[in-house]
Amino acid sequence: MAKVYKVSKEPKIGKQKQYKFAQRVKAFHFPVFSNWKLLVIFTNNMAKTLRKYPQTRCIEKESGDYALTVNVPKEDLTFVVLPHDCCLRTVAHEAFHAMEHILGAHDISLSGEIGAYHMGYLVREISKWRSTL
Ligand SMILES: [Zn+2]
Repeated sequence: MAKVYKVSKEPKIGKQKQYKFAQRVKAFHFPVFSNWKLLVIFTNNMAKTLRKYPQTRCIEKESGDYALTVNVPKEDLTFVVLPHDCCLRTVAHEAFHAMEHILGAHDISLSGEIGAYHMGYLVREISKWRSTL
């Protein structure tokens, strides 16, 4: 069973402009951790993004869900799903959950230097990639 972490945010006030579905996906691999695959997805429609992947199809998007991390341990796979307009705080929050799980699956504590290094690496790489979108 996939383990899901969610972030909730107050809904925005006022009428929301409707955009066409748009998502960007980037895969990160961690060779030292069984070549674990981390899919980072920026989307403007989380429910639609979740329906796209067999591993996330069963996850119900609730109205307050803003960003989430889905771990699929049997496949050495983690999804981080973020809205396009999220702030760095949310990127770091979900990166934490992803690294917590990846390191935890290898009996490594997130609280030491290995965890701190990987957190820094992941947040920097997601930010660098996002700046090109
Ligand atoms: Zn969380």
